[in-house]
Amino acid sequence: MTALPLVAAKWVDFHCHLDLYPDHAQLISECERERIATLAVTTTPLAWARNKEMAEGSTHVRVALGLHPQLVAERENEIALFERLLPESRYVGEVGLDASPRFYKSLEAQERVFERVLRACAEQGDKVLTLHSVRAVSKLLQYLEKTRLPDRGRVVMHWFTGSVSEARRAIDMGCYFSVNSEMLRSPRLRSLIVGLPLDRILTETDGPFVQVDGVAVRPRSVAGTLTALAPLRGIEPEAMRVQVLRNLAIMLKQ
Ligand SMILES: [Zn+2]
Repeated sequence: MTALPLVAAKWVDFHCHLDLYPDHAQLISECERERIATLAVTTTPLAWARNKEMAEGSTHVRVALGLHPQLVAERENEIALFERLLPESRYVGEVGLDASPRFYKSLEAQERVFERVLRACAEQGDKVLTLHSVRAVSKLLQYLEKTRLPDRGRVVMHWFTGSVSEARRAIDMGCYFSVNSEMLRSPRLRSLIVGLPLDRILTETDGPFVQVDGVAVRPRSVAGTLTALAPLRGIEPEAMRVQVLRNLAIMLKQ
């Protein structure tokens, strides 16, 4: 699959679960109309075919093949299907590690799956991954180092919540960071975002998990995220919008 058509795109939502909204098809139309370069992440490889079919012919929506770490406890065996489908997809996610209390007991299985994902991606090359790293940033970075995936593909840290030094490690490996509106509500993450290189920042929604007043955000909500993000970096929202588009273009070309 080729790169997203960036000339035509206006906005970037690099992590959204389009298939978890009741109006999946309408959302795709919305991304087309509003020219939002959207990465439709999935949580199980069983969702790949349907998502692909839905996004077929779309200019701005791309589908990522995923196996969510929070589902690994029940779905570890789906890694075989993931590996079979991987040659069909340049984009990969949602994958990663989650060591929060609810999912900690499956961490070993998650690591087995994640390592296989990274090894397969490194072997095939040129994959673009969006990574979940809740309470497991350091471990996740170790796997990136061990598999040398960042040398063979692109890595986006989705909803990064690690420390400043962990962010530094990720930056040194060439990782990008996709920022959502919820992150900008946290003083700690706001100050972390201030320290990220401007040319490594993307925007995302993580909808429908991120909600405002009980309503799931939609890809078009990235406009509000840019408005909140720009002043942190001392630039105008319009300049931030252009910067994010440029970042995506460069990342996909590398
Ligand atoms: Zn997600």
